[in-house]
Amino acid sequence: MACLFCQIVKKQIPAQKVFESDIAIAIKDIQPKAPIHLLIIPKKHISSVSALREKDKTLVGELVLIAQKLARKLKVEKEGYRLIFNVGKNAGQTINHLHLHFLAGKKLSFA
Ligand code: 5GP
Ligand code: ZN
Repeated sequence: MACLFCQIVKKQIPAQKVFESDIAIAIKDIQPKAPIHLLIIPKKHISSVSALREKDKTLVGELVLIAQKLARKLKVEKEGYRLIFNVGKNAGQTINHLHLHFLAGKKLSFA
């Protein structure tokens, strides 16, 4: 199965990487919806939040802590930022590999 984010993790497709650990990467979104729009992506293929298992608890916590570290590094911790998991069709999930959106750099509207 050709999964775009698995291919980015394996460096088969280029991406603007801003962070990498054993567990995850963070890249710039190709169509940013805010001045700062990153995607925090686990290296392991999990299709969405709906497919998470008990054993993935630590991994999900790690994704959120990476976001916290990036907020500090990018100096947006004080002004704020938004973290989003889109899950399934109604949320507009287009890539079936778990990813946490990190949005910052402006006052964000909420629909
Ligand atoms: P979703 O809608 O599934 O929650 O988010 C997928 C995100 O991936 C979108 O914001 C989209 O702009 C981004 N995206 C799609 N293809 C690529 C790509 O090839 N590279 C990067 N860096 N982002 C992508
Ligand atoms: Zn994948």
